[in-house]
Amino acid sequence: MTAEPAQKDLSKTAYDHLWMHFTRMSSYENSPVPTIVKGEGTYVWDDKGRKYLDGLAGLFVVQAGHGREELAEAAAKQAKELAFFPVWSYAHPKAVELAERLANYAPGDLNKVFFSTGGGEAVETAWKLAKQYFKLTGKPTKYKVISRAVAYHGTPQGALSITGLPGLKAPFEPLVPGTHKAPNTNIYRAPSFLTAPDGTVDPEAYGRWAADEVEQAILFEGPETVAAVFVEPVQNAGGCFPPPPGYFQRLREICDRHDVLLVSDEVICAFGRLGTMFGADKFGYQPDMITCAKGMTSGYSPIGATIISDRLAEPFYKGDNTFLHGYTFGGHPVSSAVALANLDIFEREGLNQHVLDNESAFLGTLNKLRDLPIVGDVRGNGYFYGIELVKDKVTKESFNDEEVERVLYGFLSKALFDNGLYCRADDRGDPVIQLAPPLISDQSTFDEIEQILRTSLTDAWAKI
Ligand code: PLP
Repeated sequence: MTAEPAQKDLSKTAYDHLWMHFTRMSSYENSPVPTIVKGEGTYVWDDKGRKYLDGLAGLFVVQAGHGREELAEAAAKQAKELAFFPVWSYAHPKAVELAERLANYAPGDLNKVFFSTGGGEAVETAWKLAKQYFKLTGKPTKYKVISRAVAYHGTPQGALSITGLPGLKAPFEPLVPGTHKAPNTNIYRAPSFLTAPDGTVDPEAYGRWAADEVEQAILFEGPETVAAVFVEPVQNAGGCFPPPPGYFQRLREICDRHDVLLVSDEVICAFGRLGTMFGADKFGYQPDMITCAKGMTSGYSPIGATIISDRLAEPFYKGDNTFLHGYTFGGHPVSSAVALANLDIFEREGLNQHVLDNESAFLGTLNKLRDLPIVGDVRGNGYFYGIELVKDKVTKESFNDEEVERVLYGFLSKALFDNGLYCRADDRGDPVIQLAPPLISDQSTFDEIEQILRTSLTDAWAKI
C-alpha cells in the first residue's frame, strides 16, 4: 500500500512567502499561520480540519455564505465565454447588465456606474471625480474632503488621506493635501456638554451637533475649497457607529447649502449588510455618489463601483470632456457575471428581508452580554455590530496600551479563534469586537456567537 504523500506545511510556507496584509509578521515566526481551506454556509475550516463560525463574513464580504456553487458556475461560464475585455471605450454584456442593475437599485438619480476592483479604488474614483467635476463646472478651487474621525476609507494614498486613523497614515506622510476631520457619531462617548447628569444623551440633539460639526469643518476650510464629505452609513472603524435620527437629513442640507457633494462610502454597508441594497436606503438620505465593493459578489470575485448621480455625470458626457481615470480590471467580465448571479440570490432568497426580520433578534442576543463586566456598549444595525470593551462600565474607562497589547491582542483574539469564532478584536479607536456574519445567519448563529463571546470575554476579564 502506498502511503498518502505528506501534506505540505502551508502554514510554514505562508510565513516564508505570503506577506499578509496589516499583519505583524514576526508574530508568526514561531507560531503557525492560521490557514483556511474550505467554507460552507456560515462556517470555514482550517487545514487541520477545525471548524470556525465566520463571524465577519470573511471581511464584511461573504453575504450569501460560503460554498455557493451557482456563483462558482457563473464565474466558470463567463471565463469560458469571455474571460477578459476592458471597459475602456468598449463595453461587454455583463458590465452593462450589472451597471444597469446597480443603477436600478441605487437611490434617486444615481444612474452612472464606474467600476473598479475594490473599495479603496472606488473611494479614489469618487474623490477624483468630485475634483474634476468642479474643475469642469467652473469651481476649480473646490478639491478638499471632509471625513470623520477614526473612519477607514482604504489604503490607496487618496483614500488613506481621508482615513481618520493617524496611526495608519503616519508611515506614509506626507499624504494628499486638503483633508479635514469632523467627529463621528459615537454617541456612547458623546461630549459631556451633551450628556445629562444621569449619563443619558438625547440622540436627536447629539445628531444635530455631530452634523453641525461637519458644517463647522466646511466653514473652517472655506466652502469654496471643499468638494465633498465622505461618510459611511454606519461607521465601521471604532466599532459600528449608527447615525442618530435626523443626522443624514441635516448633513444633506448642510452639503446643499455649501455646494459640497455627499459621498456615502458603502464598501461595507451596501448589499444587505444593513438589510437594504444600499445603506442610504436604510436611513433615507440621498447621496451624490455611493462607493461600494465587498458584498457585491459575496467575495466570489473582486469588484468595486462608484455610483454617480446624473447631475454629476452631466458635464462629463458633453463635448470632448473625459473622466481621466480607469483600472485595467474595473468591471471585469468574470466579476460582473458573479455579481449578477449574487444579486439573483439576493432576490430569490430575500436576503435583505431576512436581515430586516432578524436584526433585532441578533441585537437582542448580543445585548445579553451586557451582564459581563467587560462589555461597555453593544451597537450597530442590520447584521453589523460592535461590542465595546471597557475596564469600568460606570466611568467607561478604557484599557491602557499595555492591556490592549496583552489582553486584546495577546489573549482575546486568539481565544475567540481557538473557541471557534472568527471575528475581529480591534483597537482602532477604543477596543471593540466586530461582528458581521453572512446574511444567511439565523438565531442559531447568534446563539453560537453569544456563547463563544461569553466564554472568551469572561476569560479575558480574568487576565486584566
Ligand atoms: N471604505 C470602507 C468603508 C471600507 O471599510 C474599506 C475596507 O474595509 C474600504 C473603503 C477599502 O476597501 P478595499 O479594501 O476593498 O480597498
